[in-house]
Amino acid sequence: MASASTTPPPRADGRRADQLRPLRFLNGVAPHATGSTLIEWGSTRVICGVTIEETVPRWMKDQKVPGGWITAEYSMLPYSTLQRKARDSSKGKIDGRSSEIQRLIGRAMRAAVDLEKLGARTVWVDCDVLQADGGTRTAAITGSFVAFTLAIRKLMSQKLLAENPIANTVAAVSVGIVEGQGMLDLCYTEDVAASVDMNLVMTGAGEFIELQGNGEEATFTEAQLAEMVKLGKVGLQQLFAAQQAALATV
Ligand code: UDP
Repeated sequence: MASASTTPPPRADGRRADQLRPLRFLNGVAPHATGSTLIEWGSTRVICGVTIEETVPRWMKDQKVPGGWITAEYSMLPYSTLQRKARDSSKGKIDGRSSEIQRLIGRAMRAAVDLEKLGARTVWVDCDVLQADGGTRTAAITGSFVAFTLAIRKLMSQKLLAENPIANTVAAVSVGIVEGQGMLDLCYTEDVAASVDMNLVMTGAGEFIELQGNGEEATFTEAQLAEMVKLGKVGLQQLFAAQQAALATV
């Protein structure tokens, strides 16, 4: 029985403020992709598939840019959300949010890699949200790094790549301020309730790739910013360990 001094869990699912949702990777879910994983992070689930094209975009050829390119696409499956989300193809236009997220994923993956060592090829990173409960972009980035590493290993085993082009490990996590308290890894209800919402994308070496943070009809102080970054780093350490564990089993 809980003692009278026990503070009740501050979050709906009983997590501590600095605790991630349970995380698991199911590698190889898309066998025709060069590398793939299904990242299950709490109730958020994203399929990350990486395929390689032995060519580079036109602009790279025209500008004689050496090396390769990495590009990403992000989409939510119609049944991934509580209310059906129509596909872009049936609406005839690309969703602005998806376009912003896929550019973020592309930048994150390019920061992981020495593009010259990648050689003259394009890496397609496709992220499809199977179930959304907050943090789909951070799940997409964290899962994409695993799928990407699997794809690079395959290219190396096929002797298509002599040298490993991966320069950094990359993961991402959300943090926020909910009812005045800093919280790590927001689920959808927390995301909706948050006065400040932030996504941290970092390398395993502890450097920032991107910080996306904003107040929702609210402002935040420098001290709160520092608190969120600190919380995010706690989560990221665990994410890097989980990625390595998922990559060690294959
Ligand atoms: N969401 C939704 N439908 C949408 C966009 C978002 O249901 O069209 C939900 C979904 O659970 C998502 C959450 O709102 O994870 C937060 O969305 P946000 O744009 O902040 O991106 P995310 O946190 O997923 O990266």
